[in-house]
Order: sequence, then structure tokens, then C-alpha cells
Amino acid sequence: MKDKRVYNNIIEAIGNTPLIKLNKIAEDIPAEVWAKVEYFNPGHSVKDRMALKMVEDAEKEGKLKPGGTIIECTSGNTGMGLAIVAAVKGYKLICTLSDKQSKEKIDILKAMGAEVRVCPTEVAPDHPESYYSVASRLSKEIENSFYPYQYDNMSNTKAHYETTGPEIWEQTNGEITHFIVGVGTGGTISGVAKYLKEKNPDIKIWGVDAYGSVFKKYHETGEFDENEIYSYITEGIGEDILPKNVNFDLIDHFEKVTDKDGALVAREMARKEGLFLGYSCGSTFQGLRQLKDELKPTDKVVALFHDHGSRYVGKVYNDEWMKEQGFLD
Ligand code: PMP
Repeated sequence: MKDKRVYNNIIEAIGNTPLIKLNKIAEDIPAEVWAKVEYFNPGHSVKDRMALKMVEDAEKEGKLKPGGTIIECTSGNTGMGLAIVAAVKGYKLICTLSDKQSKEKIDILKAMGAEVRVCPTEVAPDHPESYYSVASRLSKEIENSFYPYQYDNMSNTKAHYETTGPEIWEQTNGEITHFIVGVGTGGTISGVAKYLKEKNPDIKIWGVDAYGSVFKKYHETGEFDENEIYSYITEGIGEDILPKNVNFDLIDHFEKVTDKDGALVAREMARKEGLFLGYSCGSTFQGLRQLKDELKPTDKVVALFHDHGSRYVGKVYNDEWMKEQGFLD
């Protein structure tokens, strides 16, 4: 009964998000621009798709057993997806988050019944207190636990190859010419890119990266340059590691966007398009603006927007916070 939107549980409502044309905000872009708006997922982000896939694959492989505990390091959205899946399937959930993530994300996870461990951002990934290390340690200490590790877990890419990619292809009647999206674990870009390039290898795949992240330099030079790593505030995109889910061969170009531009564009999107989006979505659209000279009127661009603005009301959508960062006068 999926066509009538009648479901047996909330998990069945994951995916099949709308594609929405961008109008006023895209006036200066010389191409048609469409938004794949992932906040329509039940956990209000794209990450519901991969959370479900990681859990179902682990169940099939016997890595996750009834009554088990899922332990994951997350910037919040994967945790929310896992919380939904865990609630329906009866698993416990522990999430480790770095302390740069917004308070809303932590509160939401707790509201969903997850146990949350907040870890310092300003430590190297291999430091015992990093959110990666704490999740890994807990997964060894806690019996009958499963640590999905979204960065290297290929079920992440598969979820997008099996759902997000085909949806975009069908929604654009195969006319898509460019796909642009923020890159964190890389699951979204790599899964969608694999599907789209199999359908039409000429489709261009653009990844949006943050200043302070290693992706762009690594893509262009093959060098993992530690000098590229410094702290930044945009949430969910860019990394200080190279996750297995980032398939660099499928990505045509990485574009870096500043924290300020991402924040200002997210606000602009709300006011011009009525789309109340997360911080990284502002970065994604700004990335497209920076690349607009690469486009022509017959092109059809899809920008994927990861999550909902409600997670950032204390930050990007708060004038005081914006002033403190020097993003508003
Ligand atoms: N934006 C936000 C807000 C996210 O939570 C994530 C996930 N880390 C991304 C972008 C990047 O998505 P992916 O991990 O699939 O590369």
C-alpha cells in the first residue's frame, strides 16, 4: 500500500522524498536546479536511509542479534536514523557525538531513547577521547553490541545506490546532467554517483567540502595533507580522515565553501524558497553558486539537501549566534 502512504511501521516511510524546483534563489544560475529534499524522511535527514541499510545488513550477516546494542559515532543525523530503526526493531542505542554538534541534535537523540556520550572535537581521530575511539571502546566492552562505523561500512553507499540514486534518475526522467551534494562519510555522493554514472557516464558529480577538511586536496593531488586539517563549524561535511565510503574516482570535482557562506545561504533558502534546511544544505547551494559558470541553460542540476533547519535554530537561524561568529553585522 506504499502508493497510498499507508505503512506498517515508521521504517517503511523512509525514502521516496520529493524533488522540488528551486526558483528565486536559482535565478542567477544558468541551468534548471532541483532540490532533493531529504528532510521529508521520518528522522528529518537523508541518513535514515543508510541507518536502516546498515542495521538490516548486519542482521542478515549475524552481526546484530535480538536485544543487541547499536553503538555509533555520529554527527547526529545517523544517530536519529538509528534511533528510529532501533525503536522499531527493539535494539538499544548508544551514540558518541563530538561537542561541536548542535544541542538540538543531542536533545533529539535523548528524546528518542538513545544514550549520548559527548566527546571533545579538538582531538585527533586516534586519541582515546575522540568520538571514534569512544564508540570503538564501548563496542568492545559491551556484550552483544554492533558498531556500524558508518565511515567504512559499505552498506552506507549501498543504501544510496539502491534508493536515492534510482529516485533521482526517475524523478528527472533521466535528464539530470549534474549532481551536487555535501560530503561527510561519502555514502550519499558515492552511492548516487555510482547509480547515475551507470545510467549515463556523462553526468557530472560535484562534492561540497569544508575548509578544514582533507577531501579536496586529496582528490586533486592524492596527498593526505595534515595541514588541511583545522577546526570549522559547518556540521556534517568534510573530514579529517578518508572514509572508505568516499569513492574519489566517481567524483568529478570538490568545491570548498566557507562556514560563513554556508550559514548565510541556508538562511536565504528559508526566506526565498520556504525551505527550512540544515547548515550543510546552505554550503551545498553555495558550492553550486561558485560553480555556476560551468553550467548552461539546457543543464538539469540536482542538489541534495541533507537535513532540516530545526536542528540549527540555536545556531544558523539565531541572529546572536551568527553575530558571535562574525557572520552578521
Ligand atoms: N550534511 C549533514 C547535515 C550530515 O549529517 C551529513 C552526514 N555526515 C552529510 C551532510 C554528509 O553526508 P554523507 O555522510 O553521506 O557524505
